[in-house]
Amino acid sequence: MNASQVILLVLALGIAPATAEVKTARSPAAFRFDGIPSPAIDDAGADARFALVDGRRDPNGADLDALNDGRLPSSEDDPRSNFFFASNSDGGRLRVDLAEATDLEAIATYSWHRGGRAPQVYEIWGAMGSSDGLELSPKRGTDPAEAGWTLISKVDTRRGASGSGRQHASWTDLDGSRFQHLLFDFRATDERDPFGQTFLSEIDVMRRGGPEPKRFESVVKTFGPEDGLRFTIDATRAPELLEWSEKELIPVINEWYPKMAGMMKSDGYTPATEVLLTYKTDMGGVPAYAAGNRVSLSVPFFRSQLDGGEAIGCVIHELVHVIQDFGHARRVNRRPNPTPGWVTEGLADYVRWFLFEPEKQGARITRRNLESARHDGSYRISANFIDWVVREHDRDLLEKLNAACREGRYEAGLWKEWTGKSLEELSQDWLNGHRERLKD
Ligand SMILES: [Zn+2]
Repeated sequence: MNASQVILLVLALGIAPATAEVKTARSPAAFRFDGIPSPAIDDAGADARFALVDGRRDPNGADLDALNDGRLPSSEDDPRSNFFFASNSDGGRLRVDLAEATDLEAIATYSWHRGGRAPQVYEIWGAMGSSDGLELSPKRGTDPAEAGWTLISKVDTRRGASGSGRQHASWTDLDGSRFQHLLFDFRATDERDPFGQTFLSEIDVMRRGGPEPKRFESVVKTFGPEDGLRFTIDATRAPELLEWSEKELIPVINEWYPKMAGMMKSDGYTPATEVLLTYKTDMGGVPAYAAGNRVSLSVPFFRSQLDGGEAIGCVIHELVHVIQDFGHARRVNRRPNPTPGWVTEGLADYVRWFLFEPEKQGARITRRNLESARHDGSYRISANFIDWVVREHDRDLLEKLNAACREGRYEAGLWKEWTGKSLEELSQDWLNGHRERLKD
C-alpha cells in the first residue's frame, strides 16, 4: 500500500487525515527557491478552470487567468500581473476544477511584492467530483468540512520560510492523493493592513506521473553585463527563442545598452537598470515596441528574422526608447514641450542604422525614395537626416537632442541654435546634397 492508498483508505473510513506536508520559501528574485521548484508553465493547473467562490477581486489586479497562465510579474509591484482580493477584506475563496479526478503530486503557489502583499496565508481543501453532498461553492459562512471537502493543508509563509526576500513560494506535497476540485481559502496577511492581500502570481497543480513540467526558470532568464544592470528575457511564449536570445542577442545587449546609455546621457538622469524583454504572440503586425522599461517582441517576426535578419537591430531600436525615456520630461518639467514623433523614432533608427549596424546601409536615400524624402518623414529617413546633421554640423547632436527631449525642452529653434541654420534650411541642404550625389 502506498501513501496515496493510505489517504484514500483513511478517506473511505471517514477519518480526517493528517494534513499534507507543506514547505515554504522566500527568494530575492527570479522565482528561484531553495527546496521548491520554480513555477511550472504546463502543469495540470494550466488547463484547469479557476472560479471565484467568495470574496471580491481587486479591480486593480489581474483576472483569475493570471494564476495559471504560466506567466509571472516582472517587478515587485506589478498589480496587473497578480490576482488579489480587494483591500479592506479578509481574502476569499477560489475553486480549481481539474475536470476529472486526478492523482496529484503537489500544489505550489507563488507571490511577489515588496511589502505586506508578499506572504501567503491560506488553506487548501480537496474534493472528488462525486463526493456525497458536495457543495461546490461554499461561502465563508460554511465550514468546507461540512460541505463535503477534505482539508489538505494550511499554508503560512510568514513563519518558518527558508530564505529571505519578497518572492514567496509554498509547496504542498500531495503524494498521489486524488481530487477533482481544490478549494483555496485565502486570508489577509495582516489584519491591521488594509492592503494585506497576497499578490498571487501563480498557482501550480502538479499531476502525479505526468511528464516533468516545463519550468519558468528554463524559459525566463535574467542576465546583466555588470552589477546593478539586469535584463530579463521572458520566452514563455516561445521557448525555442531563448537559446538564440542567450547566444546572439544577450552579448549584443550587454555591450550596447551601457554604450548607448553613455551616448545619451544627461544631467541627473540614470536609465533603467532593469529591463524586461518579453516575446509575445498577440502583437498583430507590430514587430516590437517599448513601454517604460519593458520591451515586447513579436514571436512570428523574430522567428523570421533570426539569421542576419532584422531581429537584433530591432531590439537595439527599442532599447534606445528605453534609454530615451522621454516620459521623464513630465517628471522634471511642469510644462514639457512634446517631442515630435519623427525625432523620437529618427533618433532610435539613427543609433540603430548609423552607429550599431552601419554596414547594412538600412537607412539610405536612393533614387527611389529621394523625391518623397522629408526630414520628418519616417524612421529611417529621419535617421538619415540626423546622421547628415551630425556629420556636417554637430558631432554632439545625439546627446544634446536627446537631453532636450528628455527634459521637455525640444523646440525647432534648437536646430538653429546648434547649427546656425533653421530646420527648414538644414532639410533643404540635406536633400540638395542627396540630389547632387544621385544626379547621374
Ligand atoms: Zn520606435
